[in-house]
Amino acid sequence: MAKHDHDSHMFEDKPSQKVFMFTLLMTIFCFISIYFVVLEDPRSHPDHYPEYYYEFWLAVYFHVWSFTMYNLLLTAFKSPGKTTKNQINPNEFCKRCNIDRIERSHHCTACKQCTLRMDHHCRWTNTCVGLRTHKNFLWYIFYTGFGGSTHVFLCITYLLGPGPSTLSNILVKGLFYMHAAIVGFFSYFCLTLLVFQVKLISSNISSLEYFKEMGVNFGFILCKVYPMESRYDQGIIPNFLQVIGDDVLFWLFPTEARNYKFETGYPKPPDVSSEDILAHGEFLFED
Ligand SMILES: [Zn+2]
Ligand SMILES: [Zn+2]
Repeated sequence: MAKHDHDSHMFEDKPSQKVFMFTLLMTIFCFISIYFVVLEDPRSHPDHYPEYYYEFWLAVYFHVWSFTMYNLLLTAFKSPGKTTKNQINPNEFCKRCNIDRIERSHHCTACKQCTLRMDHHCRWTNTCVGLRTHKNFLWYIFYTGFGGSTHVFLCITYLLGPGPSTLSNILVKGLFYMHAAIVGFFSYFCLTLLVFQVKLISSNISSLEYFKEMGVNFGFILCKVYPMESRYDQGIIPNFLQVIGDDVLFWLFPTEARNYKFETGYPKPPDVSSEDILAHGEFLFED
């Protein structure tokens, strides 16, 4: 029996808690700055702004920010799914974990485990994005991309708005220009990453599989995604359902994706019956 190892080294390095702390603190600081500085102006000078400006943007921003936080924390702290014994395709062997693992699992040297349907190891959250957290990651970059754009819009409105020309006000505004530029950069990055993820998910390709085939490249920052075929491709809608789950009511929420047809959202390979997967479903989820 041919045993091979799909160890993935491309996106792993030593666990970087500092990068995650930066992500977390930036996200928290964004809310504090919007609530206490940027929206303070329309609250104290409602005459200078359209009616309900403060209420509208506070509601929008609060929603976007809270969903960003939920998905960030879930991506970072929930187990992405660890592969254990695999009885379906016993030709996937990991030398480090010493197991026959489930197909599409990859060994992450940073997390020191074989992650189920590993998409990639995310430096910003300091964890693997895998079967159980891919939906949270997708929503995280969605809310960071669009929430960040809202943030930049509110900052610019505040910067161009009325305000006393005192030295402290000029200094605060100077800092906000820098802040808006940093958030703008991250928002742009997340939006291009979102386009990249949506394109890959629609063809049922993981980021890892894509970079293995195409070589590591950052063309996606310019929205360049090269066409690639996947043996797991089942059509756009079934491919998406594997990531966001079957349950329409929960698509928008940061809940775990459930795929009732295959019980756990396991990416069914073409030559494995769903009965096989259901029969071995107990192997799929382990924290
Ligand atoms: Zn392993
Ligand atoms: Zn990892």
